[in-house]
Amino acid sequence: MEYVKEKRIATSFYQSEMKEEKNKYQSRRDFVSKAGKILVAVPVIALPFILGKKTSASGYVWQIDPFKCTTCGQCKTNCVLTPSASKCVHSFVLCGYCDLCGGYLRQGAKTISTGAENQMCPTGAITRKFVEEPYFEYTINEDLCDGCAKCVKGCVDFGNGSLHMQIKQDLCANCNDCSIARNCPSHAISRVPADYQYIPKDRV
Ligand code: SF4
Ligand code: SF4
Ligand code: SF4
Repeated sequence: MEYVKEKRIATSFYQSEMKEEKNKYQSRRDFVSKAGKILVAVPVIALPFILGKKTSASGYVWQIDPFKCTTCGQCKTNCVLTPSASKCVHSFVLCGYCDLCGGYLRQGAKTISTGAENQMCPTGAITRKFVEEPYFEYTINEDLCDGCAKCVKGCVDFGNGSLHMQIKQDLCANCNDCSIARNCPSHAISRVPADYQYIPKDRV
């Protein structure tokens, strides 16, 4: 249980990661601002991307309010990027480190094991690691996550809701009109100040 406590404290890693993303964003904003003055002729196909960055320079980005998200699955299909810039992230502070994890195990799984047939995640993006009896740690491989939100639904329905969706700002093109936001049935996505570009579920 000591490890679990440490891990919960280490949620500051998650928050510092967010801070790092913010710093990256600010550097990128400076870069885009300078690049915009230099690049006079750009291919027409690149214009939406550039326009998106100009909006970013205004200081706002798109983000999901995890308390409004109803895990409909449209984050996967409606993003202009493939795979989606919307990913599952994990709040270790909220996680119960459950053996019987509703986010990791498919409903009706016959055994609690790491067999692909038992896993909720269709892309194998969630890793389960034994910590100490009876605790297990779950981590998300962002590169494999396609934003389907199935694990988030399982975690909300049967667990603590520590898995949640966020738009990763290092991936997002910051479109002027986010196509996920336009179609989100829960109106969970809105513009937020770039200074607070993530809405982690454990934020107080
Ligand atoms: S489209 Fe909206 S409700 Fe559906 S998973 Fe994305 S944020 Fe959640
Ligand atoms: S179940 Fe879907 S949202 Fe969750 S980690 Fe796997 S691909 Fe990502
Ligand atoms: S702003 Fe564009 S790239 Fe970012 S999540 Fe929305 S649709 Fe995807």
